[in-house]
Amino acid sequence: ASGRVVVAGGGFGGATAARTLKALEPKLDVTLVEPNATFTACPFSNNVLADLREISQQQFGYDGVKKAGVTLAQTSATAVDASAKTVTLADGNKLSYDRLVMSPGIDINWGALPGYDEAAAEKMPHAWKAGAQTVLLRQQLQAMDDGGLVVISSPANPFRCPPGPYERASLIAYWLKIWKPKSKLLILDSKDTFSKQRLFQNGWAELYQGMIEWVPLSQGGKVTSVDPSTLTFVTDFARHKAAVGNVIPPQKAGTIAQQAGVADRTGWCPVEPVAFESTLRPGIHVIGDSAIMGGMPKSAFAANAQAKVCAAAIVELLAGRKPVDPILINTCYSLVAADYGISVAGVYRPDKGVLTDIPGAGGTSPLEVVGGFRGQEALYASSWFKTITTEVFG
Ligand code: FAD
Repeated sequence: ASGRVVVAGGGFGGATAARTLKALEPKLDVTLVEPNATFTACPFSNNVLADLREISQQQFGYDGVKKAGVTLAQTSATAVDASAKTVTLADGNKLSYDRLVMSPGIDINWGALPGYDEAAAEKMPHAWKAGAQTVLLRQQLQAMDDGGLVVISSPANPFRCPPGPYERASLIAYWLKIWKPKSKLLILDSKDTFSKQRLFQNGWAELYQGMIEWVPLSQGGKVTSVDPSTLTFVTDFARHKAAVGNVIPPQKAGTIAQQAGVADRTGWCPVEPVAFESTLRPGIHVIGDSAIMGGMPKSAFAANAQAKVCAAAIVELLAGRKPVDPILINTCYSLVAADYGISVAGVYRPDKGVLTDIPGAGGTSPLEVVGGFRGQEALYASSWFKTITTEVFG
């Protein structure tokens, strides 16, 4: 098959899709649109907060993508015309496509949490897009007095990386225990349950006795507003003044998805479960965090898996064939300490129009372990990061 495919967004989903398209069908003309010359990865960015990594170890360039035969347009997509099949770029160019893949990740849903805007994020960082925000949160932790209160607010579902807030709490506690052991960490949650909950809570009891307090929704954990001038988190029951405040705010699909008309009223993008084509705008495929993927969580592992399935399906569609039903896997590792890893895995396939978890096919790390099991999983976690970033950017 020949044809022109434009991919908007050069993160885990988009860069994988662009490379896979070229690998499966070298005759395709594939352009990746991405404004940043360097991508900063979120997975393992919690380790940067705990001084276990430098931010530079999170950063990757696009030479590998270019070598794979992908044309790089280093600029943003600013408009999509689904009927004319064109993408307008910030540099003034316009690209036409036979198929468009969008993987713009998340944007913060500014305005959803009263008091939290772009200026507030400079005082109470979200650090939910890795980079300057991660470095700012680390600096604040390092400047805090021993005995200070760190507050993390966690949003309602759905959001990027369901176990991420709890891994962050764990690794900050890991660092505090060494350097500022009189300090405390409070998680204010808009949910009553969270990913790998018992594994995290067992780990906290084992490693950080009493240092981490988690307040669920039903006990008044939902943050209703913040005051950045005093680093205060407000709930229906209390006001919590933080020494360091990390707001993980409500999120939505990357802004370009709204502009392209592929996001619905939830802020996320509905897609069919075989080629991940938008149910709102034909010819546009949405993958990664922006898309509503049934039971699949918003993870880099998932974005990478969806990108491969999407690329294979596009090759079929361009050749006039029908793509086959896929089976996808997701695994999310989290660190409770530098040498203490836990994981959750799931297997998904289309069922009645949505990607559905195959019962019994996935699972989490065991609750009871002997020997070096958690240490081994921590090693698997870093091997996974090395493998995926080499595959996508290397
Ligand atoms: P991204 O990887 O964010 O890529 C989006 C890209 O689109 C960006 O490069 C952006 O610049 C670009 N873009 C946006 N708008 C435009 C536009 N208009 N034009 C052109 N380009 C545009 N996942 C895991 O699997 N394992 C983990 O351990 C893990 N840990 C995490 C820890 C933290 C603290 C966080 C915050 C996330 C973590 N994740 C993890 C989740 C993971 O980072 C995301 O799920 C993943 O990045 C999603 O890939 P994506 O392609 O949808 O978006």
